[in-house]
Amino acid sequence: MSRELYDMSAFRARAGELESAASAGEAERLYSLLLDDYVRLRTWSELAWIDFYASGGKDADLSDTCQKIDDMVTEAGDLLFSSASKALTGEASEEFSAFLGDARTADLADYEQMTDRESELLSRETELKLSYNELSERKGIGAAAMNREAGEIFLELIRVRNELAQIYGYDTYANYAYENVYGRDYTPEDAAALCEAVKPYARAYFRDCYYSQAFHAQQASLSAEELMDMLRRYAPRISERAAEAQQYMERNGLYILESSDTVSEVGFTTLLPWYNAPFLFDALYGGFYDVTSVFHEFGHYYDAFVNPEPDPLTTSGSYDVFEIHSTALEALAMGWYDEIFGSKADLARIHTLDGLIYNVVSGCIYDEFLRYAYDHPDMTVDEVNRAYANIALSYGEELYSLSSRYGWMYVSHNFESPFYYISYAASSLVSLQFLSLSEKDPEAAMKLYNTLVEIGAYGVSYEKVVGQIGLTLFTEDLDGIMAGPVDELILLCDRYEHSRRAA
Ligand SMILES: [Zn+2]
Repeated sequence: MSRELYDMSAFRARAGELESAASAGEAERLYSLLLDDYVRLRTWSELAWIDFYASGGKDADLSDTCQKIDDMVTEAGDLLFSSASKALTGEASEEFSAFLGDARTADLADYEQMTDRESELLSRETELKLSYNELSERKGIGAAAMNREAGEIFLELIRVRNELAQIYGYDTYANYAYENVYGRDYTPEDAAALCEAVKPYARAYFRDCYYSQAFHAQQASLSAEELMDMLRRYAPRISERAAEAQQYMERNGLYILESSDTVSEVGFTTLLPWYNAPFLFDALYGGFYDVTSVFHEFGHYYDAFVNPEPDPLTTSGSYDVFEIHSTALEALAMGWYDEIFGSKADLARIHTLDGLIYNVVSGCIYDEFLRYAYDHPDMTVDEVNRAYANIALSYGEELYSLSSRYGWMYVSHNFESPFYYISYAASSLVSLQFLSLSEKDPEAAMKLYNTLVEIGAYGVSYEKVVGQIGLTLFTEDLDGIMAGPVDELILLCDRYEHSRRAA
């Protein structure tokens, strides 16, 4: 796979021709060529970002390439939409519309071309994200100095995005992101209600688990090769299709598993749309977390392998559902921990269960924090720190030093994809149910998981999918979902402390 820096002039000229295409045949030909190039550009952008992260996020040339290609993707998408939209009003409109189909026609018909201000804001957003990335990889910078810089980047991102939301006709960026970016069927108000309801469980969790000695114990560590061996061994126990996905990934080298000392500290799975191939990237830290995160990313990989993107132009999936594919597999894999970890299995279970519960808690903390921050764009950096501290405290987190107030700046989502985190809460609230189910009946749980992955995340909503697989929504019975796992974690931690003292 290669990528190139594309010359946009041909694309621009072709988009101009499409606008005034004289025949439907001509419009179809031009549209197909433009769509192909747009999909190629998106693929090159993904490849550039993978190279950038693989370089450890410090390569200035790669950073520059990411910025340039992302600007091109933005421009190309805009030109494709606006020229196709104009062709729909032209001489060949009826036939061209029949070619596009009803759904695409509807999407394209009321598209408004991007203004200069809008593309300026989008470009600035990419630039700020890259600055944050550079900052977070900078060695030797103290927390306070990093906080100054991260805070300024964060606050400018808020101003940029608030203005974009306004341009798109939304009264808040949260409303825009929930609906348009993440495809949610619940609102920021629903999330706010969830946050309040989660607080009692969060307080019990912080009080009785979070500071347990179990998190200071010696962990088991698997090398990249051992992690790939592990996936090869367990994918067939998920399903035949999962085994195919694993083989496809390994055979084609569609993954990077490398130490976080050399690559950026990120884990993600993304689609290379031109090849219709998912790619898995996971930085390794040397501990239990690597196993959890490899299963997590493989859950995404399995889904992306089974469910190709239906339409490169107009589809967006439900991120809450995508994150069930990944976190539910984390939960189900706990059933294999005796084999994977031997005598450290219980300790590893504590870590993974903690991770799932922490997803719910931190998903709420960061959502509440961001809703507050995006509503108060005129804050100073100090005020941002204080706002974060107050919110974290209200969940029962203990802040031991002043620098605990900087916790928010280490979470890249707060900069790169704000309001994403609540998806971890929503999905983990389903995955905790998968865990309970698999403790009772592992086969039934795995079967249900495969049904879930078959449904996929395109063209569906979180609430519908959860209902379809017969699990409980957080709005229905939060206590039924949360109380059991929190008690189980408290028990596991107590047992660990006890055995440690006895030894
Ligand atoms: Zn994920």
